[in-house]
Amino acid sequence: MNIQFIGATGTVTGSKYFLSANNTQLLVDCGLFQGLKPLRLRNWDNLPFKASAIPNLLLTHAHIDHTGYIPLLIKNGFQGKIYCSHGTHELCKILLPDSGYLQEEDAHFANKHGFSKHHPALPLYTKEDAEASLKYFHPLDFEQEVKLNTDFKFTLLPAGHILGASMIKVTHKNTTLLFTGDLGRPHDIIMKPPATVKEIDYLIAESTYGDRTHARTDPKKELEEVINRTAHRGGVTVIPAFAVGRAQAVIYLISLLKKERKIPDVPIYLDSPMARDVTNLYCEFGAEHRLPTTECVLMCRDVKIINTVDESKNLDTNSIPKVIVSASGMATGGRVVHHLKAFISDEKNTILFTGFQAAGTRGEALVRGARQIKMYGEYIPVRAEIVLSDSLSAHADSQEILEWLGHFKKAPKEVFITHGEPLQAEALRLKIQEKFGWRCRVPKYLEKVNISDSSL
Ligand SMILES: [Zn+2]
Repeated sequence: MNIQFIGATGTVTGSKYFLSANNTQLLVDCGLFQGLKPLRLRNWDNLPFKASAIPNLLLTHAHIDHTGYIPLLIKNGFQGKIYCSHGTHELCKILLPDSGYLQEEDAHFANKHGFSKHHPALPLYTKEDAEASLKYFHPLDFEQEVKLNTDFKFTLLPAGHILGASMIKVTHKNTTLLFTGDLGRPHDIIMKPPATVKEIDYLIAESTYGDRTHARTDPKKELEEVINRTAHRGGVTVIPAFAVGRAQAVIYLISLLKKERKIPDVPIYLDSPMARDVTNLYCEFGAEHRLPTTECVLMCRDVKIINTVDESKNLDTNSIPKVIVSASGMATGGRVVHHLKAFISDEKNTILFTGFQAAGTRGEALVRGARQIKMYGEYIPVRAEIVLSDSLSAHADSQEILEWLGHFKKAPKEVFITHGEPLQAEALRLKIQEKFGWRCRVPKYLEKVNISDSSL
């Protein structure tokens, strides 16, 4: 059997793993490249396989860097089945059409302002393409073994990263592979911990935080301090939050702080229709997370939900102290960009990032200390306080990954370290080798590795 790494190599985006054995093929994850332009351009490259020849696609979770290429895969001829958890399916119904809409918006904007070298600039796919892709989905329960053909079977295991997030155990004849997808944390505010695994032949492990341990600070305390500090300056706190997972954690913690009267009575706005819809899904899928249904409903009570674009723009017309939670989490797009444009040049205000900021994103430039930032084709000076709270991260850090690996009773034959920037992936490789002495490698983009059964 061969495994080819068609993304999430040297970067956290574009996850795609292509397995081929005899005449059978299987794709695990189908993500978009995001962030730096050379990476985004890869979305336009031809695939190194024939999409029409793939009978099955398995998804670890709904984030666009793991699913956002699906509509394009289908445009390229894929006609097979897409398997994922129920939670992932529900989230994809929200995230994929939105991704199509954003692709159309980007193309439209580039055409209007002449940004693109291509005339006209075209979207990778449209909202309609994305909606059409949903009919290929086959949602499954966790722990349910599915036999795909004579060679392949698989099982989804909870990964604790976001709603529906799964690790995927693929069995080919007698050989087992485990894809961690994005691995959650043992003590996440919302999600239950990832399932433990005791034995596997080949492990494909993420390394987003392969070189770091998250501050063990209490994220609630951190939010309390940032909101108080900013409100006392008479400023606005803008929180770019990933619409899936982090936005729910942030509003849950803010609702607790309000209830305990630990923050002033400033208005709190959730300005992301997607985060609103996802919050409702979290309430529906109670078994996967730690929040009791009552908490789930109550957390929305203290937060004003912003629905229309006009309401959203209205928030920027005054600088009365308030908290705005809005997507996207790395400020690459979405409504948070106009809030940043309105509030980032005033030193009274704070921009609080709540998770990993990929290279090439506005979020990453800001947490690195950029003094100006380009938005809507214009450079805007940065004077607001910029804070990164990684205690709210939905990814296991290096110590937590090592702890999770500690449950293995036997060394895997090989560990492939993916889904990390080069430094992070290399750091995790060294840590795993040092602690466990396992054979590890960091595959390169498009690298194909033979893991034939003869190596058993
Ligand atoms: Zn993810």
